[in-house]
Amino acid sequence: MSFQIGSPVTSAFNTPATERPPAKRQQSGWRPPVAPSPYERGAPVGQPQDGYFAGAPTSVPQPPTSHSGLPTPISSQQASTPQMYGQPSVDGLNQQFGQMGMDGAGSQPVRKKKDRHAYHQIEQPQASAQQYNGMQNGAPNGQAGQNGQAWQQTSQPWQSQSLNQPPMPSPVPQGTPISMDSGQHGQQGAPGSNRVDPNQIPSVPLSRDTAAEHYKTHVYPTMEQHVPPPATTPFVAFDQGSASPKHARLTLNTIPSSNEQLHHTGLPLGLVLQPLAKQAEGEQAIPVLDFGDVGPPRCRRCRAYINPFMIFSNGGNRMTCNLCGHPNEVGPEYFAPTDPSGIRVDRAQRPELTLGTCEFLVPKEYWSKPPVPMRYLFVLDTSAESCSRGFLQGVCDGVLAALYGDDLTIPDEDEDDDEEVEQQPSKLPPGARVGFVTFDREMHFYNVSALLSSPQQLVMSDLEDPFAAISPEHLFVDPAECKSNIVKLLKQTPQMFYNIKHAEPALLPILQAALATLNDTGGKIICSLGSLPTYGPGKLFVRDKGTTTTEDSDQHKALLKTEYVGFKKLQADLVKAGAGIDFFLAAPAGGYLDIASIGYVAEKTGGETYYYPNWSYPRDTLPLQKELEHNVQREQGFASLMKVRCSNGLQVAHYSGNFTQHTFGADLELASITQETGMSVTFSYDGKLDPKQDAHFQSALLYTTSTGQRRVRCSNVVARVSESARDAMRFVDQDAVLSIMAKESVAKIGDRSLKDIRQALQDKTVEILAGYRKHSSGGHASGQLVLPEGLKEFAMYSLGLLKSRAIKGGREPTDRRIQEARMLKGMGPAETSLYLYPRMLAVHNLEPGEGFADDTGHLKMPAAIRTSFACIEEGGVYIVDNGQILLLWLHAQTSPNLLEDLFGEGMNSLQALDPNLNALPVLETHLNAQVRNVLLHLESQRGSKGLAIQLARQGLDGAEYEFARLLYEDRNGEASSYVDWLVQLHRSVGMELSGQKTKTTSEDVSQTVSNTISSITGAVWGGT
Ligand SMILES: [Zn+2]
Repeated sequence: MSFQIGSPVTSAFNTPATERPPAKRQQSGWRPPVAPSPYERGAPVGQPQDGYFAGAPTSVPQPPTSHSGLPTPISSQQASTPQMYGQPSVDGLNQQFGQMGMDGAGSQPVRKKKDRHAYHQIEQPQASAQQYNGMQNGAPNGQAGQNGQAWQQTSQPWQSQSLNQPPMPSPVPQGTPISMDSGQHGQQGAPGSNRVDPNQIPSVPLSRDTAAEHYKTHVYPTMEQHVPPPATTPFVAFDQGSASPKHARLTLNTIPSSNEQLHHTGLPLGLVLQPLAKQAEGEQAIPVLDFGDVGPPRCRRCRAYINPFMIFSNGGNRMTCNLCGHPNEVGPEYFAPTDPSGIRVDRAQRPELTLGTCEFLVPKEYWSKPPVPMRYLFVLDTSAESCSRGFLQGVCDGVLAALYGDDLTIPDEDEDDDEEVEQQPSKLPPGARVGFVTFDREMHFYNVSALLSSPQQLVMSDLEDPFAAISPEHLFVDPAECKSNIVKLLKQTPQMFYNIKHAEPALLPILQAALATLNDTGGKIICSLGSLPTYGPGKLFVRDKGTTTTEDSDQHKALLKTEYVGFKKLQADLVKAGAGIDFFLAAPAGGYLDIASIGYVAEKTGGETYYYPNWSYPRDTLPLQKELEHNVQREQGFASLMKVRCSNGLQVAHYSGNFTQHTFGADLELASITQETGMSVTFSYDGKLDPKQDAHFQSALLYTTSTGQRRVRCSNVVARVSESARDAMRFVDQDAVLSIMAKESVAKIGDRSLKDIRQALQDKTVEILAGYRKHSSGGHASGQLVLPEGLKEFAMYSLGLLKSRAIKGGREPTDRRIQEARMLKGMGPAETSLYLYPRMLAVHNLEPGEGFADDTGHLKMPAAIRTSFACIEEGGVYIVDNGQILLLWLHAQTSPNLLEDLFGEGMNSLQALDPNLNALPVLETHLNAQVRNVLLHLESQRGSKGLAIQLARQGLDGAEYEFARLLYEDRNGEASSYVDWLVQLHRSVGMELSGQKTKTTSEDVSQTVSNTISSITGAVWGGT
């Protein structure tokens, strides 16, 4: 059977040049939002202003802006230094930091004093000459791909068999010889013996930066056989019929024809999905198509939706399904004749026949209940801890900001009684409604109707038989219409409950009553909680007393899941009602919250849990407020179902993510889905795929938008099929592989021991590298570790996963473990990548043009550096961002001038800085503007977490432990360094290839290093 869908006349490859996005984006997706570049004020570009940091700033710095207009702290118990929960041993840290001696006598070369200021040259990794996967800089768009040429235009573009030559392998010489001279390992013998040079091993920062630079001036065409850009790369995709990688990433963009060939790669065949992913400026908006009462055309057999790969024949009367091959009759309502080449004459006008991602409005048969705009129910904890620690204050301010931004003025009703009061719209989608509930030992519903002069409180204290004390019609209101009472309520609430102080909150009955208000419509509950709910039915206990000595005991495993029937029942009822729940949890004193039980409800409804483990007021109010704002204003939907279909010969094996799936093969149920929601699906083989035909995948998300439309969003992905594993490996997508491995690993938490999970990850990594060695790479000496070109940084990322809070060895509070595990399970690939390897930037040696727009109109970012102490300079200031938290680490000997330029006059020592600082003041210094711009750029790349600074001053702040933990290339606790990890993998791959079964644990690392280091001579990283 032919899968021909287009002649050259109509294929995506022949889109007239005028209809394609320009190769160079004319408009920058990024504009400097703060201080203009000083160069526009006359300073020549590229000329460092000598002595800029040598004296006081010439302009008078403005006072730091008030970030939230918050009242004075309520709590008297603020720690001056933030406490870190679960601190590693101080000895280990001191040892690590000891390399950076205060006297400069560390392992770093001693620098001249003048170098300690802001103009240090960044030491480029030695591999900087390495090209990005063979991409030729400046190659015309679509002409040269990452792994070779574009998918050649043929008369039948989807018939890949007509390409008798596979894409050319990268022209770059494969691999980089390792220089064997480095002092990284203390264990190994005599001077001059061979060592792995840590500067020569594959660099995550370099690979990211190179791709980011390329995609500043290139679009990503979805059907020209490029491997998608690394997930952290900001890029513009051009949808040519296959979905953008932002929505769907295949692990293998050329699919092995048989299970045996797939097995040779050691890789999963899977798809990572982020159905509502945010699009970039410059990308075509996803069309919403209305097929009226009949709904979108679908295959009668497999129910696949219409897509660009359906084949029309018989003059347009027959539509052959690209997924199951079923020949469908085309109904009169969708009929169009075909032209002589077999193409529907209306194809060019029909987005569903040309685009990989489309949305369809769907008729009543797709409804479970009449769709209405989103109802947000805010359920706020007003019990003692929440009040006294400033958490309730932060939440109320955050909700106000989320609804109205900065504008809290209330239209004056008394004076304009007769006139139409002009309403400022709220920040919510049109039609969305809000309701408010507070709780401690009892529950208070609020009527904030505009008809009332002030909010009315209705108390519900029957926790045994909870009910909604107010009808949904009165509870849920238009936030613009009822602004006056909502502002009053949220402004008064913190003070009102401050004096009541019920010591402990109930939770389960409260949520049951909250659900009762959403039963008929679905919607979303946003619940804040400031202490363990130890009151009433479903009360929780301090299960984790911190007494488990090992993370592998059964006791520890049990703490990572929940057995509370009440919470499970609640979760099931929420899903049935189409109501998701997001939690905002604060543990003011680092206390236990049983997130395993509470967060379970969010997890299974597709919701999210935000956790502030060391809540500190006012420091944490900034991220809290940003997260609340983003939470309600982002693209999202509810009452959703999700299904993935694939070509004949393949079948869905397994889904991973945060959702409910009742039985194997059933649709995924996500009561809540947002632009950040990510999930993965793996496939297995029914038989052998025909390499003459392409493989097709389609994901379909049925959901209600926040404006109340019932829609299906479809993303279609097509891939070549090849008989060779080697061919498939050329088109491997590292981010997709890592996302699936991460999601599947953390999904086992609670059932398997963490040690087993880590071991399985390590075994998988070895299997992939050994499989590649055995089946895909040839001609390398046995003493070489060969990393596939497309998986060059894979080993580092998998080490990052092993070091993540979710599965790392050593002690870790169960709240934090399970929180991060669920987070990882629900993330998209970009957030995952950053989480597995943080971005580190040096602030003290920014070039003058960095942090401002470059000549393409994009922000010029400083080169990222490896997350290792070896890359840290004396007197340096560093940003470390893992997409969840951002630390600003300052060396003890940071120049006072630099501090004043960054933080303002008088801030000339680390001690002078406010430990609660969470954002930079707005100053008129060059450095300050640069860093604020860099932070804004980082913020624009964030997922659901708001960006706020946390200070980590050397020797002063507890956050320094977190900084050390995030240096993923270094040895940390029992987890090995990057170099040691590669050596260990090399040894295991060798044993695998020689038929010996490997069973290496991390404890063996040091031995491994000494055993194998001498055997690696002239090792090669990289390969074909
Ligand atoms: Zn079908």
